[in-house]
Amino acid sequence: MVHTSYAKILSTLGPATSDKRTIERLVEAGADAFRLNFSHGEYAEHQQRLEYIREIADEKQMNIAILADLQGPKLRIGQFKDGKIKLKKGQEFKLDMDNKLGDETRVCLPHKEIFAAMKPKTHLLLNDGNVKLLIKKCSKKNAVCEVIEGTELSDKKGVNVPDVTLPISALTKKDKEDLEFALSLGVDWVALSFVQTADDVKMAKKLIKERAKLICKIEKPNAVDNIKEIADLSDAIMIARGDLGVECPIQTVPVLQKRIIKICRARGKPVIVATQMLESMITNAFPTRAEVSDVANAVYEGVDTVMLSGETAVGAHPVLVVKTMDKIISEVETNKQHKLLMEATRPKSKSAESCAITSAARQVAQTLDAAAIVTFTTSGTTTLNATRERPCLPIMALTPCIKTARQLSLLWGVQSFVVKDFSDFEKVEQNAIEFAKKHRLAKKGDKLVVTSGFPLNIEGITNNLRIVTV
Ligand code: PGA
Ligand code: MN
Repeated sequence: MVHTSYAKILSTLGPATSDKRTIERLVEAGADAFRLNFSHGEYAEHQQRLEYIREIADEKQMNIAILADLQGPKLRIGQFKDGKIKLKKGQEFKLDMDNKLGDETRVCLPHKEIFAAMKPKTHLLLNDGNVKLLIKKCSKKNAVCEVIEGTELSDKKGVNVPDVTLPISALTKKDKEDLEFALSLGVDWVALSFVQTADDVKMAKKLIKERAKLICKIEKPNAVDNIKEIADLSDAIMIARGDLGVECPIQTVPVLQKRIIKICRARGKPVIVATQMLESMITNAFPTRAEVSDVANAVYEGVDTVMLSGETAVGAHPVLVVKTMDKIISEVETNKQHKLLMEATRPKSKSAESCAITSAARQVAQTLDAAAIVTFTTSGTTTLNATRERPCLPIMALTPCIKTARQLSLLWGVQSFVVKDFSDFEKVEQNAIEFAKKHRLAKKGDKLVVTSGFPLNIEGITNNLRIVTV
């Protein structure tokens, strides 16, 4: 089974999507990849879902990417005597390291790193930005603040510190344990939350040791400041608009989204837009017009992947949400304006041999009205180059490596296939023709434009272009 859309759907699994039949229905509805969210749930639940996905992929002869999303250093306040308190604008409110239950005047903030980094006249945001505090005085152990915004605060709400770089790693002890567990399950991608600097990326790469590819989640202002460096070091980027919209002024989110997508597309790094894409469908059976426009806009911007979070993890209509998203994507992609936009926003070809071949392949395919671009790849590089061109044609990836095939399924326009014998060029070419016919990507007489490294099996080069007729 293949999905014919170019933009991919990444669906988060959770309590609403735990049984095999539901996950299978998500795949049938258009889900290309799944996210296991390590902020929630037990190991056994993640493992069970992963096993179901692998079974379904086998049964449907598909390659499906599985992503483990690590929680990162999500900071939280302690608890209150009565579970929650009322706040008044302008009142004083203290934060300290004393783990006594809180009240109307104070609460524990059990993170010494925050106190160490705090500065007067900066802000703290609590409960997804619903409570805003201005720091008036602070020391290594406490802070006196003024309530700027917000009327209520309850136990263990999240704390965002947008104005300062926190001297904490993006990987907590829990994250390191979760990472090892996820890698032991054989996940294809790992996502890292609250990345701040290039060093966070290097540290994660060192721990992953090439056992999976790395996605950095951009959700802190300093990650935005360091975006080019972070993008260069990561395998992919997620625009994590949930926390980003709290850490940065909300009106900057669409502007940042456009800028980050441009930076990623120029570098040929896959980019995912995440959070609240069809949020109202968590409860409703029909999306808002604004949400439909948001998904469509991301597709017009040429993103690789659009993500569903709570919509599929805990929502009332997980299958319907994926179907809705799939329909929006198809509608946009079959419209002429989309193709024109992909042409207009195509990044300049890099002056490297591999990019020259890939960009020529796209031109040849368009001139001949070919049915697909075919890439032979071991590491995935040739396919990454091809998808960077956004050719508005299916990009077939043939690889001997199942992990590569699964990883590539997250990329714009890519249909990946595993071939066992990857030594004989002509045999692989024959395989490509068979896959194309079987999955109706091409019919007799159609042309395929094939790019590869030659000889095969050498990683990271693309130096060969051929035209074959089905
Ligand atoms: P989260 O990340 O759902 O893990 O917080 C996504 C986001 O912040 O948008
Ligand atoms: Mn987040």
